[in-house]
Amino acid sequence: MSLHLLQPAVMLPLKEKDKPIVQKLLSAGCCARCVLRFCCVSVQAAYRQPQQDTLKELQAFISNTENTKSQDAAAAAESTEGNNKSQDAAVSEPPEDPPSKRAKLEPSATGALSEEDTAAVVKLKDEVSGVCVVCLGILQELCGTPQAVKIAEAVTAEKYEFDSLVLSVSLPAQLCVREHSCWLHVKKELREKSVAADKDDVIQVKEAFKWIMQGPVTKELGGVAVVTRSLFEVGIEFTHPETDADCHFLASTCPDCFKPTKNKQSVFTRMAVVKALEKITDAKFLKHYPCPPAQPTSSCIPQDVQCLHVSVFVAGRYNKFCRSLPQTPWVIDGERRMESSVEELIAAPILTSFRANGFNFSSSGREDVDVRTLGNGRPFAMELLNPHRSRLSKVEMKQLQETINKSSDKIRVRDLQIVTREAMSRMKEGEEEKTKSYTALIWTQKPIQREDITFIDDIKELTLDQKTPLRVLHRRALAVRQRVIHSMNTRFLDSHHFYLGLKTQAGTYIKEFVHGDFGRTKPNLCQLLKTDTDILELDVESVDVDWPPSIPE
Ligand code: ZN
Repeated sequence: MSLHLLQPAVMLPLKEKDKPIVQKLLSAGCCARCVLRFCCVSVQAAYRQPQQDTLKELQAFISNTENTKSQDAAAAAESTEGNNKSQDAAVSEPPEDPPSKRAKLEPSATGALSEEDTAAVVKLKDEVSGVCVVCLGILQELCGTPQAVKIAEAVTAEKYEFDSLVLSVSLPAQLCVREHSCWLHVKKELREKSVAADKDDVIQVKEAFKWIMQGPVTKELGGVAVVTRSLFEVGIEFTHPETDADCHFLASTCPDCFKPTKNKQSVFTRMAVVKALEKITDAKFLKHYPCPPAQPTSSCIPQDVQCLHVSVFVAGRYNKFCRSLPQTPWVIDGERRMESSVEELIAAPILTSFRANGFNFSSSGREDVDVRTLGNGRPFAMELLNPHRSRLSKVEMKQLQETINKSSDKIRVRDLQIVTREAMSRMKEGEEEKTKSYTALIWTQKPIQREDITFIDDIKELTLDQKTPLRVLHRRALAVRQRVIHSMNTRFLDSHHFYLGLKTQAGTYIKEFVHGDFGRTKPNLCQLLKTDTDILELDVESVDVDWPPSIPE
């Protein structure tokens, strides 16, 4: 026997009681790693070693000939008695050994073999060629370096910027059915031995897959850490059409669990299948589904790798200098009414810089299409969806702001900065209590003298009752809201026109205050001046929200 067989890379922490389970699972067509899972082995290194090595060890362990290795395995198991769920500390090799060193042991395994070893390998190859009845190949040839290369290629092709990544694995729903069938298979054995067992102690396929893939993915991406929490998620999905029908019997045993939903292609979602499996009795399950599961002819099919970076939030203030520009795209009956919008003009250069897939725009209030926003501008914030780039320096943000400002003379942006999701809510909170300043160009029906309007300058804290304006009634509930005009000032223009400055509580409908909205806003300017008045132009002069923080020019 060669040296490496006497000193396996990982000593499997199996106990004597595991022997019949290992035997049962191997003959049922489980792969070596699934056997470890059902024996609740939580030593990660045991999954990372080549599956052929694990299979050899398992076969040696169950063989009746009491060779040194199974004794060793049993001894090792005894030393970790009651500690099967322990972490890598239970591994017999020095913990400082990097995974790469373990991997190097692999080729030598096919080195010098004695006759009886060769026989064992031949037998083992037959079994390896079979697709595992539980994981459907996922813990066999579907995890390892080729898969890691595929993941690394997908991530690199999309040119994402990231420090670490989290792997997310999506498995076909029928895997739960097969897992359950296999568990019942094991449970029967355990019950005969009166061993207490908990399905929750079985290591999940996802978990084992991640343990195995971490090292190879890190290696292929040049050292990027694969962690459990990260801003960057790499999704791997497997399907297995051959066994899709495995779940179907559950629909008749638990119809409540499978209600059609709008967005799902199939009612057999993983969640629904898990729920149905929790409800079904063992007897009923065994009546409808083979135990152990039937042997599949093919492995799972890996789908395209999906990358997703969490949103980045950008905030600033905008001016709008144009009286024919809506804040958001103006579409009526599927047809565009205006060629652009504030949010599109701001978003386009930002999306390009962050290489994001989309955005959500929000602002502190909004102005009508014909209203300008002057002064320091209106605070806004944008959520950038799936940004491929997430960090821009202050200088780069400044340059981005300039790019936006050069792209159009209809808008201007200042204080552009990256903010947190939490900080964004500061823009919305207490919005109603904030004040806003406006300038309105007023027309009067009756001719006016300079002194006819000066009394308005003395009006302070005027409370208005505003019924929901007719023009917004189609999208807002009918209500009477009280709003306060803190102060006003006038600037006479000619006998039918003057400028009216207003400082108001946010949310005051200015146009309705001026023309009265058929008496729906009281008091109104018509009543105060005792003549019909109308508003010809309106500018927002300031939105007094102290967020986002101003950035010195
Ligand atoms: Zn398996």
